[in-house]
Amino acid sequence: MNKHYIVALDQGTTSCRALLFDAAGQPVGVAQQEITQYFPQPGWVEHDPDEIWETQLGVLDRLVREHHVDPSRISALGITNQRETTILWNRKTGRPIGRAIVWQDRRTAPECESLKTAGLTEYIRQTTGLVIDPYFSGTKIRWMLDHVEGAREAARRGDLLFGTVDSWLIWKLTEGRVHATDYSNASRTLLFNVQKMAWDERLQNELDVPSSLLPEVRDSSGDFGEFAWRGARIPIRGVAGDQQAALFGQGCFAPGMAKNTYGTGCFLLMNTGDKFCPSPAGLIATVAWRIRGRAQYAVEGSVLIAGAALQWLRDGLGILDSAASSEQMARQAGEADDVCVVPAFAGLGAPYWDMYARGAIFGLTRDTNRAQIVKATLESLAFQTQDVLAAMRADTGIELERLRVDGGAAANDYLMQFQADLLGIPVERPAVIESTAQGAANLAGLALGLWDQEELERRRRIERTFTPMMKEPQRAAHRARWNKAVQRTLHWLEPEGP
Ligand code: ADP
Repeated sequence: MNKHYIVALDQGTTSCRALLFDAAGQPVGVAQQEITQYFPQPGWVEHDPDEIWETQLGVLDRLVREHHVDPSRISALGITNQRETTILWNRKTGRPIGRAIVWQDRRTAPECESLKTAGLTEYIRQTTGLVIDPYFSGTKIRWMLDHVEGAREAARRGDLLFGTVDSWLIWKLTEGRVHATDYSNASRTLLFNVQKMAWDERLQNELDVPSSLLPEVRDSSGDFGEFAWRGARIPIRGVAGDQQAALFGQGCFAPGMAKNTYGTGCFLLMNTGDKFCPSPAGLIATVAWRIRGRAQYAVEGSVLIAGAALQWLRDGLGILDSAASSEQMARQAGEADDVCVVPAFAGLGAPYWDMYARGAIFGLTRDTNRAQIVKATLESLAFQTQDVLAAMRADTGIELERLRVDGGAAANDYLMQFQADLLGIPVERPAVIESTAQGAANLAGLALGLWDQEELERRRRIERTFTPMMKEPQRAAHRARWNKAVQRTLHWLEPEGP
């Protein structure tokens, strides 16, 4: 019973998970629990930082009990987290000054407008790689300082600390000894100058965020202190935001390698090596990770509505029993490609950036049945992915050779085959679909010297590769039909006048 383990703490938007990895880096156990979502006003989304901490500790406890693991056998912890979600707390009392403002929260649109009016769009793109949007942490910090009673004064006295969820967990785990984040999380705050790899003074001034709030930024695979727990001292050695952790977990170590996570939305990240590539096409440039002082970068594009479109078929239209049954229905729908669904429920993201677009179903005839609508909806995930990849190619000049996939909808064989056909490159599904937690565990093990990146690459197991079968003329016909459909959804709403 001389086994050693690595534990990954995966703090996501909907739940906290703890995963147990053996000394060979294979997952051997998981515990999970949901956290409360607060929606105090339309467009607002909050979490309770204390609940995040207690739930995260609770799933860790359950994991070690269920698998009879002595905490002294845990060689290291890795942390991966929902990104951009913002927490402020008092360094003396350890109390959060309010609920966490979640990445999805739109309340800081006015703060974003004033950054745009101040002419900062291009500066922010060049220094942070980001676009001005409520999504990122900077305007959320400002909002809390401006709206929570006494916050400004406490910040001025040096009593407040800011952190994304990783920093909050590290601070709690180390009992206030370490206030740190990693480069991948720092690069999502709107305050981090990626060109200089340091907090940006100009943006701190523009957003009125004092330096004393900001965590120290450390390598993603490195020393984040220790968690003293039940007589054991467990080193924290790996930290990365969830999508970057998934890129690492998928072994996308070289420039041009990319992964797509098919969840509620899709998150596509492509490694751009040691090149930071601020995007003219409206993609995001970000730090992938930094290891032993060497940073790697990535470009990122998201599809707003992916798996959510299947949830709409199931819950909204009631024409689908479960997301998983879409596979069988798509196969039943037959060969005809008359129907085309554009799920622009919330406008369209990259590369269209049209918030006035709305969803539509095209090509309906008297004999259209629900299977055809399900098939076309499923295919819309692949079409939208293709659009983002085309923008990435235009931006980086990199031709993708294969696409690595994960997330709930990547289990759908029909979708994966169609994706390979449409892109004309192989689509690769790994044996371990938990890429995010795998990435955090791999970063932690790397810091301990349990393995190196070459070994991680060798160790990856592919469950299935989907090889493109479609001929180019058919592929071109699909693309032309999709493009035509998208064009007809653009500017559907009239922008409101001043
Ligand atoms: P998230 O992390 O965003 O919650 P998950 O990775 O858990 O998402 O994936 C859940 C999403 O994937 C849901 O939107 C669901 O509709 C979709 N989904 C799950 N299984 C399938 C499937 N077999 N085929 C298609 N879509 C699926």
